[in-house]
Amino acid sequence: MKDFDCDLFVIGGGSGGVRAARMAAQRGARVVVAEAAALGGTCVNVGCIPKKLYSYAAHYAEAFEEAAGFGWTVGETHFDWGRLKAARAKEITRLNGVYEQLLRGAGVHLLQGWATLCDAHTVQVRTADGDQRITARHIIIATGGTPLVPAVSGREHVVTSDHMFDLPEFPKRLLIVGGGYIACEFASIFNGLGAQVTQVQRTARVLGGFDADVSAFVAQEMRKHGVDLKLNATVAAIEKRADGLLVTLSGGTQVVADTVLYATGRYPNVEGLGLDAAGVACDARHSIVVDAHYRTSVPSIYALGDVSTQKQLTPVALGEAMALVDHLLGPAAGKAARQMDYALIPTAVFTHPNIGTVGLTEEEARRQFKDVTIYRSEFKALRHTLSGSQERTLMKLVVDAASDRVVGLHMVGADAGEIVQGFAV
Ligand code: FAD
Repeated sequence: MKDFDCDLFVIGGGSGGVRAARMAAQRGARVVVAEAAALGGTCVNVGCIPKKLYSYAAHYAEAFEEAAGFGWTVGETHFDWGRLKAARAKEITRLNGVYEQLLRGAGVHLLQGWATLCDAHTVQVRTADGDQRITARHIIIATGGTPLVPAVSGREHVVTSDHMFDLPEFPKRLLIVGGGYIACEFASIFNGLGAQVTQVQRTARVLGGFDADVSAFVAQEMRKHGVDLKLNATVAAIEKRADGLLVTLSGGTQVVADTVLYATGRYPNVEGLGLDAAGVACDARHSIVVDAHYRTSVPSIYALGDVSTQKQLTPVALGEAMALVDHLLGPAAGKAARQMDYALIPTAVFTHPNIGTVGLTEEEARRQFKDVTIYRSEFKALRHTLSGSQERTLMKLVVDAASDRVVGLHMVGADAGEIVQGFAV
C-alpha cells in the first residue's frame, strides 16, 4: 500500500480546520495544517470575536446615558477608536497564539502559506521557504468564505466586513448595504459607537429567515436607537466626492457617507484551490458538494464549514469537524460517533437590542403543524422605567397546540443570546 507523508492534510486553519486537525492529532493521526493568513480564521480575526468585542464597546454609550436616571453624574464621555482597535488587535493576537499552541501541543505540523490541490492525495503549499508538496491519505478543505460585493457603479470605493474592524478613521457617516445579520450587527455597533448610520435593504424586511415578528420588532428598535433604516431600497451608484462618498439610491435619494459597507452575502473560498486538478465538484453557488460524511466527489477529499455548508456559523463548522474526525478515525473511547443535526440551530444576533432564537419561526410552525398557539409578550424592562430609554423587549413562544410542545422560542432584548442559549441546551 502507498505510504503517505501524513494521514490528514487540512487546508485552512479557521474554526473547522483547527478543530478537525487538533482532534485527529489527539487520536494519533499524523496531521498537517496549511493556513495562508492568521490562525483562527474568520471567526477569530474578522468575525464573531472582534464583532462581539465592538458590540460591548458600543453598549457603553447607552450605559453612560442611562446612568443619569439612576442618580449618577457621568462626566463628558469621549470614544477613542484608535484605543479600541489597539485593544482588539492585542486580544486577537493572543487568540492567534492560543490556536497555535493548541495545534502544536496536539502534535500538528503547521505550514504558513497558500495550499493548492495537485491531485486526490497531494497538496502543494507556497511557504516563505519555497513550495512544499505533501501527500496525505485524507485531505480536508476548510477554507471558509469571503464577502461578496455585487457589481455596482463605484464598487471600488466600498469596504466589506473584513475591513470594518480596522478602518483607519472612525466613519462618522456610515452607509451599510444589506439586511442580513452581519449588516444589522454592524449598523447597531457603529450607531452605538457614535456614527450616523444609514442601512439600505432591498426587500421589505431585515433578517429574512428569522421570525417575521422578530424582524419587524428589531427593525423598530434599531430605528429608535437612531439607525436610518431604508427598506425596499437599492444602491444605484457610488461616487467619490470631496466631502465623502455620494450614494445614490434607487428612487433618487442621495446620502453622503465616509464609509460604505457592503454586507450582502458571502461566497465559498474555492478560487485558486486547484479543485479542477483534483476533480472536486462544486454546486451552482460554488459550494463544494459533500455527502452526509462530508466526502466530496473525490473519495479521499472532504470539505466542511463555510466552504461547503449553507449554515455558515462557527458552531456548525466545529460540529462538522468533530463528526468528520469520528467518521475517519472512529469515535473517542467509550463514545458514540458524533452526527451533525442541522435542525433547530440556535442563533444569536448582536443587534442593539440582541436577538436570541431557537427552533421554528411562526411561519415554519404553521406550515408543519395543524394548530399553532403563540404566546407573545412585549414590554418595557423595569430598568428602563428610570433609564430614560424607550427600548422594549419581545418574547415569543411558538407551540404545537396538539402536543403542547414548544417548537420555537424567540427573544429580542438585553442579553437575549445568553438567555436563549440556556433554553437551547
Ligand atoms: P474560516 O474560519 O473562514 O477559516 C478558513 C481559513 O482558511 C482562513 O483562515 C483562510 O485564511 C484559510 N484559507 C483559505 N484558503 C486557503 C488556502 N488555499 N490555503 C491555506 N489557507 C486557506 N458565526 C457564528 O457562529 N457566530 C457569530 O457571531 C458570527 N459572526 C460573524 C461575523 C462576521 C462579520 C462574519 C464575517 C462571520 C461571522 N460568523 C459567525 C461566521 C463564522 O465566522 C464562520 O461560519 C466560521 O468562521 C467558518 O469557519 P470555517 O472553518 O469554515 O472557515
